[in-house]
Amino acid sequence: MKSTIIYDNESHKKGLKPDWGFACLVEAFGRKMLFDTGAKGSMLLDNMKKLGIEPASIDEVFISHYHWDHTGGLTDFLDLNPVRVYIPSSCPEPQNAGEVIKVEEAFRLHEGIFSTGELKGIEQSLLIETERGLVVIAGCSHPGVSSILEAASQFGKPYALIGGLHGFNEFELVKDLELICPTHCTQFISEIESVYPDKFMSGGAGEIIII
Ligand SMILES: [Zn+2]
Ligand SMILES: [Zn+2]
Repeated sequence: MKSTIIYDNESHKKGLKPDWGFACLVEAFGRKMLFDTGAKGSMLLDNMKKLGIEPASIDEVFISHYHWDHTGGLTDFLDLNPVRVYIPSSCPEPQNAGEVIKVEEAFRLHEGIFSTGELKGIEQSLLIETERGLVVIAGCSHPGVSSILEAASQFGKPYALIGGLHGFNEFELVKDLELICPTHCTQFISEIESVYPDKFMSGGAGEIIII
């Protein structure tokens, strides 16, 4: 699988604008999924253009949770490409989606691609199967990293965690992961790096992770 961070609080690549919010492109099993859409449509589409990601090439959108910094670009994106959108059931339905799938329970979207289900009534995480284990992609981790990893475990052994981890500080919870890429709202990025220097990868718009 390949994950390209499009929208993040930090920028990893010259020319890409940093902004509070998160979005990434996930390519796996022949599909291209947009995970979250950042805060502003214009900035999402601008960063996509600079990364050479054609909006028309996206097959589906996966929305982690209904916070403005994850859904702000959704309407503008769907205006260009009205694809299917997976949203937690607590989210209002986007009006211009091709199809809306409301998610409550954990389920398989496609071969090798799963959702944790809507955890604690707020947020779902995306799970991608790889030979090394599951790659877990989280928006803000509002339900807590332990609930997310526990829900993920029903589909396989978590290998990597990518995304916003908010105030996550129970660092021993991720000791069995091989790769941690904390982005966006993660408060304790430098602490995670100092506890797990070998597992740590810095995020930022333009960062590409291939597993
Ligand atoms: Zn957020
Ligand atoms: Zn949030």
